[in-house]
Amino acid sequence: MRKVGFIGLGIMGQPMATHLLESGYEMVVLDRVASRMEPLLSQGAKAAGSPKEVASMSEVVVTMLPNSPDVREVVLGARGAIEGAGTGKTVIDMSTISPEVTREIASELTKKGIKVLDAPVSGGELGAKAATLSIMVGGEKGVFEENLPIFQVLGKKIVHVGPSGFGQTVKLCNQVVCGMGILGVCEGIMLASRAGVDLEKMLEVVGAGAGASWMVSNLGPKIVSRDFEPGFMVKLQQKDLGLALDTARSLSLPLPGTSLVDALFRSAEAHGLQEKGTQALIVALEALAASEGGKRGH
Ligand code: NAD
Repeated sequence: MRKVGFIGLGIMGQPMATHLLESGYEMVVLDRVASRMEPLLSQGAKAAGSPKEVASMSEVVVTMLPNSPDVREVVLGARGAIEGAGTGKTVIDMSTISPEVTREIASELTKKGIKVLDAPVSGGELGAKAATLSIMVGGEKGVFEENLPIFQVLGKKIVHVGPSGFGQTVKLCNQVVCGMGILGVCEGIMLASRAGVDLEKMLEVVGAGAGASWMVSNLGPKIVSRDFEPGFMVKLQQKDLGLALDTARSLSLPLPGTSLVDALFRSAEAHGLQEKGTQALIVALEALAASEGGKRGH
């Protein structure tokens, strides 16, 4: 089995790297927060001191980092993966970043004979832990096929969606859908609460009908119990909606619903909820309604 380097062991990276290790891959890991490497090191992974070292110690480098500047720095920066990776090695970015930056990074790597894929994921922390992620992959079809065994350890639905950058574009489509999905769940809860309906019963029956969704069944109950721990942080969703709106603007495409959700998340950020889960969007709506919507009305 090929040696895999994994950089970025946060909410998503930690369980993903653990699955790869447990399925038999020899692993080299790196996170700028040293304590996040410990659980993997205690299971037999090796530690590296820089992305360059990760790349020189492995055949495939996977990155799971917050945003475009992080991926650019880790891959192309001083002591970046590009310095340790040679011809024939592969860099797979599984973070959600700008499609344009993805293409720029891919072009630099390709010049050095390094293979590259963008493979962002959907399914959240739960999907990462259960290895049931949806993975949308951009890049050359042949490189995708070579790396399918890695993706199959991490996810259930794995689709090659086009050339470099297309994985990221599809992920932004996913974020547009998810952003409006969580707004719908919050508004349903606000209406039920104001009308005095039992919130659990509302979610139970709505979640089994045409309104059923991942958002209703996973985040609805969290809103009702006022559990705002992430999951998927508000600040990361804001980054993704910003990327979606930038992309739409560059295509002269209006996305009015996305613009609205973006503004409401900004309000949640203004309430200091950047590091809470996206279900904290309800706090912005509660401020508009001057009432607490997640609590039972009567
Ligand atoms: P996170 O902030 O929990 O993890 C990011 C990790 O990267 C942190 O441990 C951080 O220390 C590390 N890091 C940052 N810069 C680094 C550097 N230069 N060198 C080494 N390590 C560095 O974020 P997350 O929730 O795991 O999300 C990661 C990516 O996956 C993001 O792009 C996010 O949008 C995307 N994503 C997240 C979810 C989710 O539900 N959390 C779902 C799908 C996609």
